[in-house]
Amino acid sequence: MVNKEVFSSLIDELDANDCSLLAVSKTKPVEDIRSLYELGQRVFGENKVQEILQKKPLLPEDIEWHLIGSLQTNKVKQIIPHVKLIHSLDSLKLWKEINKCSKEAGFKTNALIQIKIAKEDTKSGFEVNELFEILKAGIHKEFKNVVICGVMGMASFVEEEEIIRAEFRQLKAYFDNLKLNYFNNPEFSIISMGMSSDYKIAVQEGSNLVRIGSSLFGNR
Ligand SMILES: *Cc1c(COP(=O)(O)O)cnc(C)c1O
Repeated sequence: MVNKEVFSSLIDELDANDCSLLAVSKTKPVEDIRSLYELGQRVFGENKVQEILQKKPLLPEDIEWHLIGSLQTNKVKQIIPHVKLIHSLDSLKLWKEINKCSKEAGFKTNALIQIKIAKEDTKSGFEVNELFEILKAGIHKEFKNVVICGVMGMASFVEEEEIIRAEFRQLKAYFDNLKLNYFNNPEFSIISMGMSSDYKIAVQEGSNLVRIGSSLFGNR
């Protein structure tokens, strides 16, 4: 069930902060996606390749699908024609594979570099040292069929607001550094951070794309 009141007040709040909404519809039925679509939402996110492939043909074609969950290299070829943006570019191996498959298919794929900002080991994303080593060596320059559009990160699941805020602030600092030194182009513009529980903090720290599921669609 979609909560329409939550949706419209969220949109107003985000608009006032120049922030966009990615509605995270994972595990939710296509009827829920359609309800939100009818209220004007066009950008939806899923964390599984299979779920995008199943839902997409059942829904309007002007929906923009984003993949937010970790992507295995053996599924890259299948999914890239169907997504507008991959938020979870988190390894050199994946970067290489997305580039290779995109080149073979004759198009470019948009992606965000997912950076590990949470202390917990469970969170995926590039270790920041590894990322900067790749960039300093210029390895990424070969990957011309992947358009890096910004960064994505997930804060720790903790109660302490100050921990979450510091992690988001760190991600914004990485974004600024990357933009200045490695991706000085207009495409590099997205800071994807903030979920249902912490999006207000993320917006205060500079997010311009929040990924919100449960507060719109109900608990999973
Ligand atoms: C599920 C998920 C979200 C949305 O989480 P909610 O707490 O439901 O808002 C955001 N980002 C990623 C990467 C997710 O997997």
